[in-house]
Amino acid sequence: MRIHKTSVLLVNTHGENQGVVQVPTQVLRGWKKYLLFLVSIIVCLICVTGVLIHHLTSEHYREELAQANNVKNAINVARAKQSFQSIDESIYRINSFLQERGLAEIRMDNVGGGPDFEIIDINGVAEFYVQQLNEMERTIEFVPLGVPHDGEISSSFGYRRNPFSRRGAQFHTGVDFRGVTGDTIRSTAAGVVELAEWKGLYGRTVIIKHENDLRTLYGHLSSIDVAVGQEVRAGEFIGRLGNTGRTTGPHLHYEIISSDGRLNPADYFSLDID
Ligand SMILES: [Zn+2]
Repeated sequence: MRIHKTSVLLVNTHGENQGVVQVPTQVLRGWKKYLLFLVSIIVCLICVTGVLIHHLTSEHYREELAQANNVKNAINVARAKQSFQSIDESIYRINSFLQERGLAEIRMDNVGGGPDFEIIDINGVAEFYVQQLNEMERTIEFVPLGVPHDGEISSSFGYRRNPFSRRGAQFHTGVDFRGVTGDTIRSTAAGVVELAEWKGLYGRTVIIKHENDLRTLYGHLSSIDVAVGQEVRAGEFIGRLGNTGRTTGPHLHYEIISSDGRLNPADYFSLDID
């Protein structure tokens, strides 16, 4: 079938003939229809492209958001804050315990505070507490904590009736632990053996000097198993319970001596703060 065409005469604004163009008659008659069709295709293409771009970017955004949330959960600042506060309170309590016994040399500038402190640098805060705890560990290592023997306490520190004459008061300078001759006696803190020999009424005695100028004394021993100058750790075996010196039966007489005099060892048996 032959396509029916119409000749269009092109004339410029001065009325001059610019030539003749053959255009299909159908196109000339329905040009609005064709234009609409073309515009529709362009609009469709733009829409499809837009949807595709949106889909890709929103997926990327969701991934980024999920990753950010993961990071945020890994560093839960609120929980970290709670943990730090708990560490802070523990340090404060232990420090109070040591301070009450005249032992704290730890710098405690920032501890004992409320929960309203600001965390700007979480690693910095963590490092601060690591330092505090290391320092505390060093201090505590030389504090005579706990008991040198697990026997029952038969006589406490302080005034008591004279156990020999049963008349008049006498100041008991330590704590007595009831036991059986030969029981293991252990140092209550790290230190250096200062005395390891017979010492008058104390009988066979060990005195250990600790770094904080405290000394611990273990009396009435049946055997001494350390030598003067020897370094001992906390809990190290130093001798055996006995009945030497002035005693009314086998027991350990245990003292904590500071430069100010005798201390009550019971204050050091546990970390309780009265
Ligand atoms: Zn005693």
